[in-house]
Amino acid sequence: MNLFDLNGRVAVITGGNAGIGFGIAQGLAAAGAAIAVAGRRADKNLEAARALEVFNVKTAALEVDVCKEESCRSMVESTVERFGRIDILVNNAGITIRKQPETYTLAEWNKVIDTNLTGAFLCAQAAYPHMKNGRGGKIINIGSMFSIFGTSFAVAYAGSKGGIVQMTKALACAWAKDNIQVNAILPGWIDTPLTQAARKEIPGLNERVLARTPAGRWGEPQDFAGIAVFLASSASGFITGAAIPVDGGYSSQG
Ligand code: NDP
Repeated sequence: MNLFDLNGRVAVITGGNAGIGFGIAQGLAAAGAAIAVAGRRADKNLEAARALEVFNVKTAALEVDVCKEESCRSMVESTVERFGRIDILVNNAGITIRKQPETYTLAEWNKVIDTNLTGAFLCAQAAYPHMKNGRGGKIINIGSMFSIFGTSFAVAYAGSKGGIVQMTKALACAWAKDNIQVNAILPGWIDTPLTQAARKEIPGLNERVLARTPAGRWGEPQDFAGIAVFLASSASGFITGAAIPVDGGYSSQG
């Protein structure tokens, strides 16, 4: 028995068309899962879905805006229509707005919270009945180092990512009876379009990340393939409610 085999499983990944989400998509596809790549931009979704064809798995490109309840529901329904089931949901879509808290508008606050936290809840809620009917499922939520630490320039982001950890625990408690495991991954500093922008905006960030990360490098999207397969597979059947740093040791450094 291969504990990490995902043949026959179906995964939907929000924000699966770029960065960490695409790294996760590659990992799950390499383990045999069919993949629905979901994001706002149809062209990016299609490109990512095509790139996953090298793994000889079925793929779909789905448009979703996780800020909208109806859109989350239709993403899940489209996945089930195409593939017949849904076993794995990765709540990875995320944004930030870098500003001092005193200058935040309510609209900016809501946009970040809606995308990063409420969107993950809505997608999980939409997936739940299908996972329950399928006698189990795996939900993987993407947190951050700002699930643990504070910072001056990301009040809404840190609020949303702290919320991700607590929401993960609450969903884990509620749905363990349905054989649904809900866990979070907390990435360290990873080289993606999100942080390429941050590196330009925040002087000295690159040097600070390298100095603070024991592994001595930025993470890569591919660093998330292994943890995603583990949390999506039967290998993690008795793990639920956990928040696992994938950070090159960043959160262990005093
Ligand atoms: P990217 O900016 O590279 O990717 C973000 C993804 O989210 C894109 O695929 C984007 O697709 C999608 N997305 C954004 N808003 C929405 C929305 N409203 N509805 C649906 N999809 C949306 O970011 P990363 O890969 O860096 O980040 C991925 C996750 O990892 C995020 O949750 C982020 O907070 C988290 N993270 C990242 C870290 C890093 O160092 N990079 C560190 C810690 C956490 P589209 O534009 O097509 O909608």
